[in-house]
Amino acid sequence: MTNCLICDDNDHIIFVDKYIHQFEEDKKYFDDAKLYKCNACDFTFVNPMPDEKKLDYFYKKIYSSKIRPPYFALEDSDVQKSHFLKDKNLSYLIYLTSLIDFKKIENIFDFGCSNGDIGYALKKKFTQLQLNCSESDEFCKNILNERGYKNYDDLNTIDKKFDLIIATHVLEHVTNVNDLFKKFKNILNPEGYIFFEVPNCPKEYWENRIYDGSHLLFYTKKSMEKIAKLHNLEFVNFSFSAHSFEDDYMYQRNDQENAHKTSYKYSRVIKKILPTSIVSILRNYKRGKEGREISKLDWFINNTGKNAYMRGILKKI
Ligand SMILES: [Zn+2]
Repeated sequence: MTNCLICDDNDHIIFVDKYIHQFEEDKKYFDDAKLYKCNACDFTFVNPMPDEKKLDYFYKKIYSSKIRPPYFALEDSDVQKSHFLKDKNLSYLIYLTSLIDFKKIENIFDFGCSNGDIGYALKKKFTQLQLNCSESDEFCKNILNERGYKNYDDLNTIDKKFDLIIATHVLEHVTNVNDLFKKFKNILNPEGYIFFEVPNCPKEYWENRIYDGSHLLFYTKKSMEKIAKLHNLEFVNFSFSAHSFEDDYMYQRNDQENAHKTSYKYSRVIKKILPTSIVSILRNYKRGKEGREISKLDWFINNTGKNAYMRGILKKI
C-alpha cells in the first residue's frame, strides 16, 4: 500500500481501479499504472507513477502531436494565435479580472501554458505585465517566443518572484503536487496569487469515466482545500465551472472515436497520397470542435451545477 500524495498518510488509502489509457500506444509511457484513493483527502492518484524520462518525452513530443485530439498542431500559426479570444480564455479573463486588481500585478508565471493565451490576452489590456512560463511542449515554443514569454525549463532555476502564478489544466498532469506547491510558494511574492483550474473528480465523475490518460492526479473540492491549508494559502474564490460530466464523457468518447478513425485512415492512406490523410484529420478535428461550441455559454458562468471542472484563486498568507 502507498501513502497519500497530499496528507502523506496511509490509513485511508483504498485501491480504486486499473488505469484506463486514452490510446493503446500510451501504455508504453504510463506503464502499469493503478489508481488509489485517499478517503481523508477525497483525492485519487496513480501508483506507481510513470517513469519521469518517459513522461518528459510524452509531453515534449507526443501529447500535442498532429494525430491526437484536439489536433492542436494541425492548425496554422495564425489560427492558433487567434485563440486568445476564444470562449474559454474570455471566461478566464472575466474571472481573473473580477477578483484580482491587475493594475497592481507586475509579472505573471504560467506553468504549462501551452501558447500562453491567458497572459497574452491580459497584456493587451495591462501593458505593464511581464510574461513568464514553463512549457516543454515543442509545438508551442515559437508562439511563446513571439509573444515575449520568458520560458524556464526548470522551476528550480527561477531566481525571481511573481505576483500571479497560473496553472490551468496542469495540476492533474504532475507526479508530485506538494512538491509543486512548495516550488510555487518559493517563486510567489508576498500576497501573490495562484489561479488554478482542474477537472473535478468526485464520486459522480468515477461512475462513468471513459479514460484516465493522461491524468495522474484527480482532485475534489476537499483535496484542493487540504492542499491550500497544508501550504498556508487562503482561498480568494472557489467555483465549479465548465460543462456537465455527461458532456465531458461525450467529448471524451468523440475524441477517442475520431482518433481511432483517423489513425486507421492515416495508416491506410499515407502509403498512397499524404494530403488525403490530412483532409480526414481536419474533418475529424472540425467534428469534435462543433460539439464543444454547443456548451459555450457554460464557460462564462460559475457555479451552475455543471461541474466537470473547478477553479480557484489562492493567496499567500
Ligand atoms: Zn490524504
